[in-house]
Amino acid sequence: MSLLNGKFAVITGAASLRGIGRKTAVRFAEEGARVAILDLDETAAQAAAAALPGGGHLGLACNVADHAACAAAAQAVLAAFGRVDILVNNAGITQPLKLMDITPDNYTAVTDVSLRGTLNMSQALVPAMRSGGGGSIICLSSVSAQRGGGIFGGPHYSAAKAGVLGLAKAMARELGADNIRVNSITPGLIQTDITAGKLTDEMRADILKGIPLNRLGDAEDVANACVFLGSGLSAYLTGITLDVNGGMLIH
Ligand code: NAD
Repeated sequence: MSLLNGKFAVITGAASLRGIGRKTAVRFAEEGARVAILDLDETAAQAAAAALPGGGHLGLACNVADHAACAAAAQAVLAAFGRVDILVNNAGITQPLKLMDITPDNYTAVTDVSLRGTLNMSQALVPAMRSGGGGSIICLSSVSAQRGGGIFGGPHYSAAKAGVLGLAKAMARELGADNIRVNSITPGLIQTDITAGKLTDEMRADILKGIPLNRLGDAEDVANACVFLGSGLSAYLTGITLDVNGGMLIH
Protein backbone atom coordinates (compact mmCIF):
# COMPACT_ATOMS: atom_id res chain seq x y z
CA MET A 1 0.00 0.00 0.00
CA SER A 2 1.09 3.57 -0.39
CA LEU A 3 -1.39 5.65 1.51
CA LEU A 4 1.14 8.44 2.14
CA ASN A 5 2.97 8.62 -1.17
CA GLY A 6 4.53 12.04 -1.70
CA LYS A 7 3.73 13.20 1.84
CA PHE A 8 6.22 14.79 4.22
CA ALA A 9 5.78 14.12 7.93
CA VAL A 10 7.23 15.34 11.23
CA ILE A 11 6.98 13.08 14.27
CA THR A 12 8.11 14.24 17.71
CA GLY A 13 9.53 11.81 20.27
CA ALA A 14 10.12 9.19 17.60
CA ALA A 15 13.60 7.91 18.51
CA SER A 16 12.60 5.49 21.30
CA LEU A 17 13.13 2.00 19.88
CA ARG A 18 9.87 0.37 21.02
CA GLY A 19 7.89 3.60 21.05
CA ILE A 20 4.68 4.68 19.36
CA GLY A 21 6.45 7.53 17.54
CA ARG A 22 9.15 5.26 16.15
CA LYS A 23 6.61 2.68 14.94
CA THR A 24 4.55 5.47 13.40
CA ALA A 25 7.65 6.68 11.55
CA VAL A 26 8.23 3.16 10.20
CA ARG A 27 4.60 2.78 9.09
CA PHE A 28 4.63 6.25 7.47
CA ALA A 29 7.83 5.40 5.57
CA GLU A 30 6.34 2.05 4.48
CA GLU A 31 3.36 3.98 3.10
CA GLY A 32 5.64 6.20 1.02
CA ALA A 33 6.13 9.25 3.25
CA ARG A 34 9.41 11.01 3.98
CA VAL A 35 9.73 11.44 7.71
CA ALA A 36 11.53 13.84 10.05
CA ILE A 37 12.16 12.29 13.45
CA LEU A 38 12.51 14.86 16.24
CA ASP A 39 13.74 13.79 19.68
CA LEU A 40 15.90 15.01 22.56
CA ASP A 41 19.11 13.32 21.45
CA GLU A 42 20.41 14.17 17.97
CA THR A 43 22.41 10.96 17.49
CA ALA A 44 19.41 8.82 18.47
CA ALA A 45 17.11 10.79 16.17
CA GLN A 46 19.52 10.46 13.25
CA ALA A 47 19.99 6.74 13.85
CA ALA A 48 16.22 6.22 13.97
CA ALA A 49 15.78 8.15 10.71
CA ALA A 50 18.58 6.19 9.01
CA ALA A 51 16.91 2.89 9.98
CA LEU A 52 13.59 3.77 8.29
CA PRO A 53 12.61 2.05 5.05
CA GLY A 54 13.28 4.10 1.89
CA GLY A 55 15.57 7.11 1.75
CA GLY A 56 15.58 10.83 2.38
CA HIS A 57 14.44 10.81 6.01
CA LEU A 58 15.70 13.25 8.59
CA GLY A 59 16.68 13.04 12.27
CA LEU A 60 16.92 16.19 14.37
CA ALA A 61 17.39 17.18 18.00
CA CYS A 62 14.40 19.07 19.36
CA ASN A 63 13.09 19.55 22.87
CA VAL A 64 9.40 20.19 22.18
CA ALA A 65 9.06 22.09 25.46
CA ASP A 66 11.34 24.78 24.00
CA HIS A 67 9.46 27.17 21.71
CA ALA A 68 12.59 28.43 19.91
CA ALA A 69 13.91 24.88 19.42
CA CYS A 70 10.62 23.89 17.74
CA ALA A 71 10.81 26.90 15.42
CA ALA A 72 14.41 26.05 14.51
CA ALA A 73 13.59 22.37 13.90
CA ALA A 74 10.63 23.35 11.71
CA GLN A 75 12.89 25.59 9.62
CA ALA A 76 15.46 22.80 9.23
CA VAL A 77 12.76 20.33 8.14
CA LEU A 78 11.29 22.81 5.66
CA ALA A 79 14.74 23.54 4.25
CA ALA A 80 15.21 19.82 3.58
CA PHE A 81 11.66 18.79 2.59
CA GLY A 82 10.19 22.00 1.16
CA ARG A 83 6.81 21.28 2.77
CA VAL A 84 5.19 19.41 5.66
CA ASP A 85 1.85 17.62 5.28
CA ILE A 86 1.59 15.71 8.57
CA LEU A 87 2.63 16.51 12.14
CA VAL A 88 2.38 13.88 14.86
CA ASN A 89 2.64 15.46 18.32
CA ASN A 90 3.80 12.29 20.05
CA ALA A 91 6.52 13.29 22.55
CA GLY A 92 5.40 12.66 26.11
CA ILE A 93 6.61 11.60 29.54
CA THR A 94 4.70 10.17 32.47
CA GLN A 95 5.22 9.93 36.23
CA PRO A 96 3.26 7.50 38.44
CA LEU A 97 2.66 9.96 41.29
CA LYS A 98 -0.25 10.44 43.68
CA LEU A 99 -1.88 13.87 43.90
CA MET A 100 -0.11 15.05 47.05
CA ASP A 101 3.30 13.90 45.83
CA ILE A 102 3.30 16.07 42.70
CA THR A 103 5.85 18.86 43.07
CA PRO A 104 5.76 22.04 41.00
CA ASP A 105 8.72 20.65 39.03
CA ASN A 106 6.85 17.39 38.33
CA TYR A 107 3.87 19.36 37.06
CA THR A 108 6.05 21.50 34.82
CA ALA A 109 7.99 18.54 33.44
CA VAL A 110 4.91 16.54 32.43
CA THR A 111 2.73 19.36 31.12
CA ASP A 112 5.65 21.02 29.32
CA VAL A 113 6.30 18.01 27.09
CA SER A 114 2.76 16.89 26.25
CA LEU A 115 0.75 20.10 26.33
CA ARG A 116 3.18 22.96 25.75
CA GLY A 117 5.07 20.73 23.30
CA THR A 118 1.92 20.14 21.25
CA LEU A 119 1.26 23.89 21.12
CA ASN A 120 4.89 24.73 20.30
CA MET A 121 5.29 22.25 17.47
CA SER A 122 1.88 23.02 15.98
CA GLN A 123 2.66 26.76 15.99
CA ALA A 124 5.99 26.02 14.33
CA LEU A 125 4.45 24.13 11.41
CA VAL A 126 0.98 25.62 10.87
CA PRO A 127 2.27 28.51 8.71
CA ALA A 128 3.93 26.06 6.29
CA MET A 129 0.81 23.87 6.22
CA ARG A 130 -1.31 26.94 5.52
CA SER A 131 0.86 28.08 2.64
CA GLY A 132 1.13 24.50 1.39
CA GLY A 133 -2.65 24.14 1.07
CA GLY A 134 -3.42 22.05 4.15
CA GLY A 135 -2.27 19.28 6.40
CA SER A 136 -3.06 16.81 9.15
CA ILE A 137 -2.03 17.26 12.79
CA ILE A 138 -2.30 14.22 15.04
CA CYS A 139 -2.06 14.66 18.81
CA LEU A 140 -1.25 11.83 21.21
CA SER A 141 -3.50 12.09 24.25
CA SER A 142 -4.30 9.09 26.48
CA VAL A 143 -7.17 7.07 27.95
CA SER A 144 -5.83 8.60 31.16
CA ALA A 145 -7.38 11.92 30.09
CA GLN A 146 -10.80 10.32 29.67
CA ARG A 147 -11.05 8.11 32.75
CA GLY A 148 -9.00 10.15 35.20
CA GLY A 149 -5.86 8.09 35.27
CA GLY A 150 -4.57 5.27 33.16
CA ILE A 151 -2.30 2.86 34.92
CA PHE A 152 1.00 4.67 35.24
CA GLY A 153 0.18 8.33 34.89
CA GLY A 154 -0.45 10.60 37.86
CA PRO A 155 -3.15 13.30 37.96
CA HIS A 156 -0.79 15.82 36.33
CA TYR A 157 -0.39 13.41 33.37
CA SER A 158 -4.19 13.06 33.09
CA ALA A 159 -4.46 16.85 33.16
CA ALA A 160 -1.79 17.34 30.51
CA LYS A 161 -3.40 14.76 28.23
CA ALA A 162 -6.90 16.21 28.79
CA GLY A 163 -5.40 19.58 27.91
CA VAL A 164 -4.13 18.09 24.66
CA LEU A 165 -7.70 17.05 23.76
CA GLY A 166 -9.00 20.58 24.31
CA LEU A 167 -6.12 22.16 22.44
CA ALA A 168 -6.55 19.80 19.49
CA LYS A 169 -10.29 20.49 19.26
CA ALA A 170 -9.74 24.24 19.37
CA MET A 171 -7.05 23.99 16.70
CA ALA A 172 -9.39 21.88 14.56
CA ARG A 173 -12.06 24.58 14.74
CA GLU A 174 -9.61 27.38 13.92
CA LEU A 175 -7.66 25.62 11.17
CA GLY A 176 -10.47 23.94 9.23
CA ALA A 177 -10.71 26.89 6.85
CA ASP A 178 -7.06 26.29 5.96
CA ASN A 179 -7.76 22.64 5.16
CA ILE A 180 -5.69 21.61 8.18
CA ARG A 181 -7.30 18.73 10.06
CA VAL A 182 -6.48 18.18 13.74
CA ASN A 183 -7.36 14.93 15.50
CA SER A 184 -6.38 13.17 18.72
CA ILE A 185 -5.65 9.57 19.59
CA THR A 186 -6.31 8.21 23.07
CA PRO A 187 -4.29 5.00 23.46
CA GLY A 188 -4.98 2.55 26.26
CA LEU A 189 -2.06 0.60 27.70
CA ILE A 190 0.53 0.17 24.95
CA GLN A 191 3.67 -1.89 25.55
CA THR A 192 6.54 0.58 25.07
CA ASP A 193 9.48 1.81 27.14
CA ILE A 194 7.24 4.33 28.87
CA THR A 195 5.85 1.42 30.93
CA ALA A 196 8.79 -0.99 30.62
CA GLY A 197 9.80 -2.67 33.86
CA LYS A 198 6.84 -1.19 35.75
CA LEU A 199 4.30 -3.87 34.83
CA THR A 200 4.27 -6.96 37.05
CA ASP A 201 2.57 -10.23 35.92
CA GLU A 202 -0.08 -9.67 38.57
CA MET A 203 -0.81 -6.15 37.32
CA ARG A 204 -0.96 -7.40 33.74
CA ALA A 205 -3.54 -10.10 34.60
CA ASP A 206 -5.59 -7.55 36.49
CA ILE A 207 -5.51 -5.04 33.66
CA LEU A 208 -6.48 -7.66 31.06
CA LYS A 209 -9.73 -8.31 32.93
CA GLY A 210 -10.81 -4.81 31.92
CA ILE A 211 -9.88 -5.09 28.23
CA PRO A 212 -12.54 -6.80 26.06
CA LEU A 213 -9.99 -7.63 23.33
CA ASN A 214 -7.94 -9.36 26.06
CA ARG A 215 -4.50 -8.05 25.18
CA LEU A 216 -2.36 -5.02 25.79
CA GLY A 217 -1.81 -2.72 22.84
CA ASP A 218 1.23 -2.68 20.59
CA ALA A 219 2.87 0.43 19.18
CA GLU A 220 1.71 -0.72 15.75
CA ASP A 221 -1.95 -0.49 16.83
CA VAL A 222 -1.47 3.23 17.43
CA ALA A 223 0.84 3.70 14.42
CA ASN A 224 -1.87 2.34 12.12
CA ALA A 225 -4.37 4.80 13.57
CA CYS A 226 -1.84 7.56 12.78
CA VAL A 227 -1.59 6.32 9.19
CA PHE A 228 -5.38 6.55 8.92
CA LEU A 229 -5.53 10.08 10.37
CA GLY A 230 -2.58 11.24 8.29
CA SER A 231 -3.95 9.88 5.03
CA GLY A 232 -6.78 10.87 2.72
CA LEU A 233 -8.85 8.02 4.18
CA SER A 234 -9.79 10.40 6.98
CA ALA A 235 -10.29 13.47 4.75
CA TYR A 236 -13.63 14.43 6.39
CA LEU A 237 -12.49 13.93 10.00
CA THR A 238 -11.39 16.80 12.18
CA GLY A 239 -11.66 17.45 15.90
CA ILE A 240 -12.22 13.76 16.66
CA THR A 241 -10.81 11.62 19.44
CA LEU A 242 -9.91 8.14 18.25
CA ASP A 243 -9.80 5.53 21.03
CA VAL A 244 -7.16 2.83 20.49
CA ASN A 245 -7.64 0.87 23.70
CA GLY A 246 -8.98 -2.63 23.00
CA GLY A 247 -12.27 -1.59 24.58
CA MET A 248 -10.67 -0.60 27.91
CA LEU A 249 -12.96 2.44 27.91
CA ILE A 250 -16.24 2.18 26.02
CA HIS A 251 -18.25 5.36 26.32
P1 NAD B 1 8.32 6.35 24.85
O1 NAD B 1 8.89 6.70 26.19
O2 NAD B 1 8.66 5.03 24.24
O3 NAD B 1 8.66 7.48 23.79
C1 NAD B 1 8.56 8.85 24.12
C2 NAD B 1 9.61 9.59 23.31
O4 NAD B 1 9.47 10.99 23.58
C3 NAD B 1 11.06 9.21 23.66
O5 NAD B 1 11.77 8.93 22.48
C4 NAD B 1 11.59 10.46 24.37
O6 NAD B 1 12.99 10.65 24.18
C5 NAD B 1 10.77 11.54 23.69
N1 NAD B 1 10.71 12.78 24.47
C6 NAD B 1 10.53 12.93 25.81
N2 NAD B 1 10.56 14.22 26.13
C7 NAD B 1 10.76 14.91 24.98
C8 NAD B 1 10.90 16.29 24.67
N3 NAD B 1 10.84 17.23 25.64
N4 NAD B 1 11.09 16.65 23.38
C9 NAD B 1 11.16 15.71 22.41
N5 NAD B 1 11.05 14.39 22.63
C10 NAD B 1 10.85 14.00 23.91
O7 NAD B 1 6.75 6.51 25.03
P2 NAD B 1 5.50 5.95 24.17
O8 NAD B 1 4.81 4.95 25.03
O9 NAD B 1 5.89 5.62 22.80
O10 NAD B 1 4.58 7.26 24.19
C11 NAD B 1 4.34 8.06 23.06
C12 NAD B 1 3.16 8.98 23.36
O11 NAD B 1 1.99 8.19 23.58
C13 NAD B 1 3.35 9.82 24.61
O12 NAD B 1 2.79 11.10 24.41
C14 NAD B 1 2.55 9.07 25.66
O13 NAD B 1 2.13 9.89 26.71
C15 NAD B 1 1.40 8.56 24.81
N6 NAD B 1 0.71 7.40 25.39
C16 NAD B 1 1.38 6.23 25.63
C17 NAD B 1 0.68 5.17 26.19
C18 NAD B 1 1.34 3.86 26.51
O14 NAD B 1 0.72 3.01 27.17
N7 NAD B 1 2.56 3.60 26.07
C19 NAD B 1 -0.68 5.28 26.47
C20 NAD B 1 -1.32 6.48 26.20
C21 NAD B 1 -0.62 7.54 25.64
